[in-house]
Amino acid sequence: MKTILVTGGTGFLGSNLCVRLIQEGNRVVCVDNNYTGTLDNVQDLLAHPNFTFVLHDVCNPLVLENENINQIYNLACPASPIAYQGKHSIETTKTCVLGALNMLELARKHGATILQASTSEIYGEPQVHPQVESYWGNVNPIGVRSCYDEGKRVAESLFFDFWRHYGVDIRVARIFNSYGPNMSPTDGRVVSNFICQAMAGDNITIYGDGTQTRSFCYVDDTIDGLVRLMNSEREIVGPVNIGNPNEIMVKDLAQMIVDRIGSGCRVVYCDLPSDDPTQRKPDITMAKQILKWEPKVSLEEGLGKTISYFSGKICKK
Ligand code: UDP
Repeated sequence: MKTILVTGGTGFLGSNLCVRLIQEGNRVVCVDNNYTGTLDNVQDLLAHPNFTFVLHDVCNPLVLENENINQIYNLACPASPIAYQGKHSIETTKTCVLGALNMLELARKHGATILQASTSEIYGEPQVHPQVESYWGNVNPIGVRSCYDEGKRVAESLFFDFWRHYGVDIRVARIFNSYGPNMSPTDGRVVSNFICQAMAGDNITIYGDGTQTRSFCYVDDTIDGLVRLMNSEREIVGPVNIGNPNEIMVKDLAQMIVDRIGSGCRVVYCDLPSDDPTQRKPDITMAKQILKWEPKVSLEEGLGKTISYFSGKICKK
């Protein structure tokens, strides 16, 4: 039985990952400061004998004297633009950088394999489409998204330095937009916003003209990609894109959700936030080749599951 640490374990991706790891018979130590995550997301796991929750901010070193950690998934970081911008921007940079540093030190001490949840935001406003791992990106270093983008870029840099200097067994995944159960209804992501707005009969808020694109990956596929990367051969360090190449305009996503929920709501156009990327689509050739991974859940099917999840929740704005 492996002992696996998941930072950001009460968040959207983290909680889905914890469920999968427990189902597979592992021991899971879930670490979170519950800033954007919530214990509600791991409610069903709390009583499980192989699951431990530790309330901790990864900006501080983590000491786990009585544990022998085999793997670390470093997912801790606010991931939604409204969570990481504004007054929480400095904490976001600190979480990315100090969190990566502290978890890398822990991995080194325990001889654990460590996976970094990096991001498509590494590519910024991409000049290469679709985005391949070899593309270095086009990030505004002083913009409102830079706390997240540059924070994640420094984290990648730290991972590769720990690999080069100390031989730490690293994996770096660049995760593209993901959606599904346990997304927060209040964190302003496009899928959760549109579903909650449509369910409430409110206006659907498209930012900009809605022609910007994203490629949405259902959470089970994303988690499967991360687990495969973690358990791949040692020389596969990445970075590896994990995402669904099915690209869609935001306005078409809005229409799909309105059609499904059928609430006849009005679509309204709002200001586009600054530095909002115009297009985003992963090239997943590498993941297909080395992980034998590609997404299986279509947007239609994934949206259906996500709508069912949100119908059991109260969508508050
Ligand atoms: N977006 C939108 N309406 C919303 C929320 C988001 O049109 O109510 C847009 C947003 O401007 C961006 C896209 O949807 O172009 C994806 O936004 P999200 O925050 O989900 O992800 P990210 O920008 O991090 O890719």
